[in-house]
Amino acid sequence: MDDCVFCRIASKMIGSDIVEESPLAIAVRDVNPQAPVHVLIFPKEHLPSVKDLDPERCDLLTELFQLVNDIAISEGIAQTGYRLVVNSGEDGGQEVDHVHFHLLGGRFMGWPPG
Ligand code: AMP
Repeated sequence: MDDCVFCRIASKMIGSDIVEESPLAIAVRDVNPQAPVHVLIFPKEHLPSVKDLDPERCDLLTELFQLVNDIAISEGIAQTGYRLVVNSGEDGGQEVDHVHFHLLGGRFMGWPPG
């Protein structure tokens, strides 16, 4: 989708700070980081929301979580801990309609979230 910023990142139409890539997914640093480590992990295919991550996409789900685990290690937060967030829909605060994980770490995360 040409009007989706994450599709444009995945297809390299626009630049981004790529952390890691797999055949079906990509991880980039958030342009507006909310923590010392703030990486976005998302499918290369345009899938709008969590409901599109159905069981038929188990290969993609495996890759997404593999990237989470790999990057937590490479960013040095696997031991100290981190937060994995998926904002979904209007009340969830989703601004980009292309499903993505926020991997946040490098500081203590308060609860409840804002
Ligand atoms: P959400 O509110 O969950 O949809 O989060 C969207 C995230 O995408 C925000 O944290 C933005 O800072 C981030 N973002 C938007 N455009 C870009 C971009 N071009 N490169 C990296 N991160 C982006």
